[in-house]
Amino acid sequence: MTPHVTIVGAGLGGLTLARVLHVHGIPVTVHEAEPSPAARSQGGMLDIHDHNGQLALKAAGLFDGFLGLVHRGGEASRVLDRHGTVLLDEPDDGTGRRPEVHRGDLRRLLLDSLPAGTVAWGRKVTAARPLGDGRHEVTFADGSTVRTGLLVGADGAWSRIRPLLSDARPAYIGRSFVETYLFDADTRHPVCAGTVGGGSLSALAPGRGILAHREPGGVLHTYVALDKPLEWFEAIDFDDAEAARARVAAEFDDWAPALRALVTDGETTPVLRTVHSLPAGHRWDRVPGVTLLGDAAHLMAPSGEGANLAMYDGAELGEALAAHPDDIEGALTAYEKALFPRSAAAADEATRVHHLCFDADAPHSLVRFFTDHERAA
Ligand SMILES: Cc1cc2nc3c(=O)[nH]c(=O)nc-3n(C[C@H](O)[C@H](O)[C@H](O)COP(=O)(O)OP(=O)(O)OC[C@H]3O[C@@H](n4cnc5c(N)ncnc54)[C@H](O)[C@@H]3O)c2cc1C
Repeated sequence: MTPHVTIVGAGLGGLTLARVLHVHGIPVTVHEAEPSPAARSQGGMLDIHDHNGQLALKAAGLFDGFLGLVHRGGEASRVLDRHGTVLLDEPDDGTGRRPEVHRGDLRRLLLDSLPAGTVAWGRKVTAARPLGDGRHEVTFADGSTVRTGLLVGADGAWSRIRPLLSDARPAYIGRSFVETYLFDADTRHPVCAGTVGGGSLSALAPGRGILAHREPGGVLHTYVALDKPLEWFEAIDFDDAEAARARVAAEFDDWAPALRALVTDGETTPVLRTVHSLPAGHRWDRVPGVTLLGDAAHLMAPSGEGANLAMYDGAELGEALAAHPDDIEGALTAYEKALFPRSAAAADEATRVHHLCFDADAPHSLVRFFTDHERAA
């Protein structure tokens, strides 16, 4: 029988795996560093794709619950230039190929689908070591340890489990995001609300951009993208909200006021998200009793795929373990055999998409990408 599975990380990937294991009656514990499910706001809108994220939710038996969370109208998308000229405006056609949900709602759906106690909160892993015969010992920040016959690193970009399998370290991609929010936007920021529309907006130029999503409840969530070295961001005091906003907005001085206002009128302390990636094609030799999923396995430039891939990995691993009840190594081998080429292809595509969003011909390269894509579909 499959032994009790130990997952590190209660992100979307780790929780999808836990749920699929639970559906198949395989015992599991998820150790999560955060002290509680509400410890941190869970980011913004995610579009969940029919070829990976949605399949994972079906494997988890949660597809109907997911449909109840979809933000209707949220699939609309616009591409603008820095003058605010709309170059592409696609309404939500209601086909549901890429429905938008709030990451926090999706995480809650997964958490609520697990038996109480499955997730152990406040369990920050500091180290893990092999004990031989496929067993591992995991050490937590409070000094306590657990021993396990099957360990899964679902602990994101800076995984503490990855060193058991690989020496690879994430590298800065040369671009970062700064997050800001506007609330009650239709009433209090109508120009910004009208500019963003019902779904997402990408206003792009070479090396910079303003990306925004409409979230339920009239919230506008903006990511400012800037190609700058880490030192440039380190020189900004992000605890001083006003100064940080002004410094970032100064990079958009010659942009349309309705776009700049998404930054200058921001109502929260701007949050810096530096972007790192693992080498494309990251892989490892099979090590008994341990594997990785999601960002821990294939951290890549954000391209709208990372959360979808993490969930898909989780579902695939859960199904592989269920299909090989007496053969953990057979299950992990089958899972990794499909994981490596899938992740390598996705990482290549992520690099390509990320590049064309901000290349010398931005925003026209992205418009061409979308129109070519549609023609091919
Ligand atoms: C700016 C930005 C925008 C993005 N937008 C999108 C998008 O629109 N669509 C999309 O599909 N993807 C998007 N992504 C990518 C997506 O967020 C990630 O790929 C996805 O969250 C990976 O899921 P995961 O479960 O592997 O890891 P994570 O979501 O990172 O979860 C890892 C979990 O492990 C926990 N953890 C970490 N270290 C430890 C430890 N030592 N001990 C215990 N627990 C630990 C963390 O607290 C966390 O809960 C975006 C990423 C960025 C940076």
